[in-house]
Formats: sequence, C-alpha cells, structure tokens
Amino acid sequence: MKVAENLRARGFEAIAVSTKEDALKEVLMEAENAESVGWGGSETLKEIGAREALQNSGKTICDHELVMDLFLLSANALTLDGRIVNIDGRGNRIAASIAGPKRVVYVIGRNKLVDGGIDAAIDRIKRFASAPNCVRLGKNTPCAKTQRCSSCDSPDRICKVTAIFDRKPTGINAKVVLVNEDLGY
Ligand code: SF4
Repeated sequence: MKVAENLRARGFEAIAVSTKEDALKEVLMEAENAESVGWGGSETLKEIGAREALQNSGKTICDHELVMDLFLLSANALTLDGRIVNIDGRGNRIAASIAGPKRVVYVIGRNKLVDGGIDAAIDRIKRFASAPNCVRLGKNTPCAKTQRCSSCDSPDRICKVTAIFDRKPTGINAKVVLVNEDLGY
C-alpha cells in the first residue's frame, strides 16, 4: 500500500490491515507490555472495541495524563503522501501524540485518506469531523446550525489547534495501523 510506504519514508512504522478485528489485534499486541494506556478520545478506537478489550485485559486507561506507556489515537485525516493531520479544541490529544508516551499508535480507517494535500485534509476535517462534532455537542458555532464550516472565530469553536506531521516527531516511537474499512469520522 503506497500510503504505508510513504508513512515509513516519514519515519513512522506502518502496517495495512483489512478489518477492524485485525486492527484490534494490532492494538492489543502493542499494549501487551504496557500497564498504562492513553486514550485519544477516538471514535475509531471505540468502533474497533479497543477500550473494552484493554480494560478486560487489566490495563489502566489514562484519559488525561501525558506520561504513559502507550498512547492510542486516530487521525482526522491522512494524505496519500503520508502526512497526518489532527485538529483539536484543547490540544491535549495532539500534545500527547508528540511528547510523553513511550509509544504512540494511530489506528486510521480508509475514510480518513485524502488525495490532495494539506488543504484537502483540513477541508475534510472541517466538513466531516469538526462541523458534525459541533452539531453533536451543541456548540455555539455557525456550523452547529448550518453543518458547514464558515471559518468562524467563535470562542466555542472546537477546531483551535492544528497539527501537521510532515515526519514522525523526534524522540517518539510511533506506528500507524491502516485499516481497509471506514472507521470514525
Ligand atoms: S472553524 Fe468554526 S465553523 Fe468552521 S468547523 Fe470550526 S467551529 Fe465550525
């Protein structure tokens, strides 16, 4: 898979799997020696059943701390040339994916792939993640009413911090599990 090769060229480990069950196996294998596992608030990880499986195997799930053995998250978008793009409201997910954990593992469904570079990635995120989340969370933003991004400057906006990973950050140990299914949004 070309995008896996491109991620490797940018310093990430990368593996492509066909199903969410295979993705869960990867996550559990990664967590085997971790006592504490950070949780990046991801619908993708919920959909593959990661939280329940980790709790059933006795792992401590950390929702807010930055120091942990393993941090699990998804991406809001991944460009075909291997760049990960995430947008946060608080920046805590992005912060934990850059510094703190011993190991970072992304689980990314095929619906997050964009053909068209960073602008296309940000456009995807605003349309399919930020605006629907503003609707779901009842935010006081234009998109919560229109379901379209108008690049607002609302104090209530949830897209405040944007991270573009041109390469794996120095000092972290990171892997991407690419899943050939639609997962999260
Ligand atoms: S910038 Fe404003 S309008 Fe656009 S998605 Fe974010 S919160 Fe919604």
